[in-house]
Amino acid sequence: MKIRIRLVVLNVLSIVIFLGLTTAKSTGQNYDSLNLAKESQHFNFYSSPGDIKVLDSLAKTLENNYVRITNHLGKQIDKKINVKVYPTLKAFHIAIHYPDSPDWVVGSSNGKELMMVSPLNPGSVHTYESLLQVIVHEFVHIAVAYARDNNIPGSSRWLNEGYAQYEAGQVNDAVRKSAESSVTTKAPPGWTQLDSLPVMEFGNINGYALSATIVEFLVLTYGMDKLVLLIKEPENIESIYGLSKDSLEKQWIGYLKHEKIE
Ligand SMILES: [Zn+2]
Repeated sequence: MKIRIRLVVLNVLSIVIFLGLTTAKSTGQNYDSLNLAKESQHFNFYSSPGDIKVLDSLAKTLENNYVRITNHLGKQIDKKINVKVYPTLKAFHIAIHYPDSPDWVVGSSNGKELMMVSPLNPGSVHTYESLLQVIVHEFVHIAVAYARDNNIPGSSRWLNEGYAQYEAGQVNDAVRKSAESSVTTKAPPGWTQLDSLPVMEFGNINGYALSATIVEFLVLTYGMDKLVLLIKEPENIESIYGLSKDSLEKQWIGYLKHEKIE
């Protein structure tokens, strides 16, 4: 069980760390040997010939989630998003300029386009199914960037990563248990600390699982509308929720420990 929890958390980690890395280092416009192989209503898919057969499934997954996510955020995206599907982890890692990345690095988003390894060749950590969640997670990052007019400086890491996991259906019991054990075995990092840590450290202190549960707590307790307001104006957290940040954090810890909110 412990192994499973760690794997699940690692799967989540893999997605997210990457956003930070690619944000810092542009992926450029290098399409390599990939060709435009499929178009859906909102996406253009580039792949090698061997991966064309997986594109219907990727397109269906993205389109099935597209309207819900853009409606939640209240902002339509005015152009098609490119999705690049690489045939191997090695090709993907080279494309993102981190050729020595470990196997858990499988997807990335630079705010404009998605890049991922083919679900047909997911490597040693991920699976076909988990990559179908990864692609939604990465799309959420793009949709949020549009909703915030690419206002990166004011963004909140726990909020972005927590929301991406929430919309991608990655918040499961293993993630909740992992976050719960982080807050019960030692003093949990505060939300401000989660936002201030470098991305690797964020991952090392279980920041992804913690973030996922913060967003789940906020949505289940206060609703999606307030969460979307928060995504757009994270600096206004206290006026949006009518509570101090400390009070919200305490409520979240109580939520993780299954205490009733007073
Ligand atoms: Zn992410």
